[in-house]
Amino acid sequence: MADLKNKNSGRSRDRELGMNRDITRRDFLNGIAIGLGGVLASPWLGGLLAAQTGVPSGQDRPGYYPPTLTGMRGSHPGSFEVAHALRDGRFWEKAGKPVETGEEYDLIVVGGGISGLAAAYFYRKHAGSSSRILILDNHDDFGGHAKRNEFHLHGRMLLTNGGTVAIESPFPYSREARGLLTELGIDPPALEKKYADREAYSDLGFAYFFDKETFGTERLVANAPGGFYGRQRGSSKWAEFLARTPLSAQAQQDIVRIQEASIDYMPGVPQAEKKARLSKMSYKDFLLNAVKAHPEVIPFYQTRTHGLYGVGIDAVPALDCWAIHFPGFQGMGLDRVPSKGLSFTALGEVTPQEEYHFHFPDGNASIARMLVRSLIPGSASGSTAEDIVTMKMDYSRLDSRDSPIRMRLNSTAVQVRHLGDAGSAKQVEVVYGREPKAYSVRGKGAVLACWNMVIPYLCPELPAEQKEALHYGVKVPLVYTVVALRSWTAFHKLGVRGISCPGMYHSSIGLDQAVNIGDYKSPQSPDEPILVRMLRTPCRPGLSARDQQRAGHYELLATPFDTFERNIRDQLARVMGAGGFDPARDIEAITVNRWPHGYAYEYNPMWDPDWPEGQQPCDIARRRHGRITIANSDAAAAAYTDQAIDQGYRAVQELFSS
Ligand SMILES: Cc1cc2nc3c(=O)[nH]c(=O)nc-3n(C[C@H](O)[C@H](O)[C@H](O)COP(=O)(O)OP(=O)(O)OC[C@H]3O[C@@H](n4cnc5c(N)ncnc54)[C@H](O)[C@@H]3O)c2cc1C
Repeated sequence: MADLKNKNSGRSRDRELGMNRDITRRDFLNGIAIGLGGVLASPWLGGLLAAQTGVPSGQDRPGYYPPTLTGMRGSHPGSFEVAHALRDGRFWEKAGKPVETGEEYDLIVVGGGISGLAAAYFYRKHAGSSSRILILDNHDDFGGHAKRNEFHLHGRMLLTNGGTVAIESPFPYSREARGLLTELGIDPPALEKKYADREAYSDLGFAYFFDKETFGTERLVANAPGGFYGRQRGSSKWAEFLARTPLSAQAQQDIVRIQEASIDYMPGVPQAEKKARLSKMSYKDFLLNAVKAHPEVIPFYQTRTHGLYGVGIDAVPALDCWAIHFPGFQGMGLDRVPSKGLSFTALGEVTPQEEYHFHFPDGNASIARMLVRSLIPGSASGSTAEDIVTMKMDYSRLDSRDSPIRMRLNSTAVQVRHLGDAGSAKQVEVVYGREPKAYSVRGKGAVLACWNMVIPYLCPELPAEQKEALHYGVKVPLVYTVVALRSWTAFHKLGVRGISCPGMYHSSIGLDQAVNIGDYKSPQSPDEPILVRMLRTPCRPGLSARDQQRAGHYELLATPFDTFERNIRDQLARVMGAGGFDPARDIEAITVNRWPHGYAYEYNPMWDPDWPEGQQPCDIARRRHGRITIANSDAAAAAYTDQAIDQGYRAVQELFSS
């Protein structure tokens, strides 16, 4: 009886939330005409598709335009099953002997992300415009993490990034990475100055949402000091803000101390020793054991590192948190200079550099689109950073016989091998799985611009030490959810543009960044449709970062879209309800950009050894093997666009060096 009651109340809550609403959440089934029966009968898809269906293919078909697909994106259904079948030893038995295509190329690039596209670009630059290049990617769209989400609401185009947010890096862009952007026509500081709309939503502030499950009482507390996540320094308004929260008096006092007081929590300890100790303890342990804060402050800070690290403060070193301007270190006397014990990201924070930053409305998907436009004539018209933004690309031109450079989507490489001995072979063979068969192509060389952990399965002929190194890093899972709203009056009424929700399914909610470039205009009036971004990182506090990441992969792939949708609706209803938000009425579309294999793994001083120069796993993993070289951001152990470009450049140079 109790079960039945729960079921009924669950159903009525679902109705309130609008779970029955016909929004564009599952359009990926309709967006591309695909024989669904064929997909379900696929030998490679295992049980996963019972819950998540819809595998696009046929990039030449009229209307093929993945950026407008909604629902489950990122690692979308259909993109990973071949690779998982290969990993699990199920692929070859089902696929049978590869079909010989007879195609021969100068270069075959595995991976159509920024690194693979950059590799193709550098190869052509070096070898000339008649170079024949094939780029393979397992997704239905190119760009890798640099993906575009395009919505059309009430006659208006709204864009956002499905993954890579912006041109920005902890370190200055290299000559090659900067040169590539310049050749494409991208001048980040100039674009930033001209097109970033800093005024939009500037009258709205930041807030925290305290959920009853974590904090005992449900409350939205606006006017949070210090900007989003309180990262701006120098605010003295914490006591007033905290007094409005459900936190206990002790927790409030401790947070004010952490945020504002100038105390040395390691008096008498030399600076180098302080930094060494802080690099080996988590920020959570710093707060509990050095600052001696009440444990109740931990949930308040727990998710602050999610966006940058994909894990909470239990797994991020305190020294990194100092470098990225977290509070508590004001009186510690730490000089902001590069020092040992910082992760790649944090080291960049203390390395002086000039401004080099820009956010295209679709993030760095614009870079990927400009690269493709340059590589494959006819894929898009125009020539500027402005005109690419609203351009509809022609996917039917990507794999055209007429073009020396071709890109084949929905195609997962499953084998890369030398035809003969690696030291003397003149060709490599690449086999790829594309439903429902395997196909083989040949090239004079191959750049593997895919993920490190996939490479040992593709290329068993690599030395054992290299394969072990390729397996070392565990990519960081994270989810960028995008919710298209018919208006943002609730945000306006509540006076908020960004909300930190430390206890909830998504740890933050925010209005999308405003940029007005070319023909693209961001929403200005609260009555207009808008895109709202939400962040989820599926971590498991208490485990090492790598184990949290492994657990997160499984969680993301096992979570059906319905679960995301219900949580999104419930969270927005609870957080924005006081502003009149009604999820059943206000939500027009949902895209869950799911990245089980997201950021490249950066070494974490809390768990990883301090390897000698040149001996990190990524150094060993990216060694050239005959005519096969290795690009991608994993090869740098750094999750940034410039690193992906630099690795593409190096991989190509290695192919040309005898
Ligand atoms: C959510 C998110 C946000 C980010 N934000 C930023 C940011 O703001 N600024 C920044 O500089 N960097 C950012 N990064 C990092 C940046 O996106 C990456 O460093 C960069 O785009 C990686 O490019 P890549 O080509 O090396 O890898 P990817 O983009 O991952 O591309 C590799 C491609 O190879 C494909 N592939 C893998 N195996 C195979 C196979 N067997 N056959 C065929 N294809 C295969 C993959 O599916 C993928 O499409 C972000 C990353 C993520 C995940």
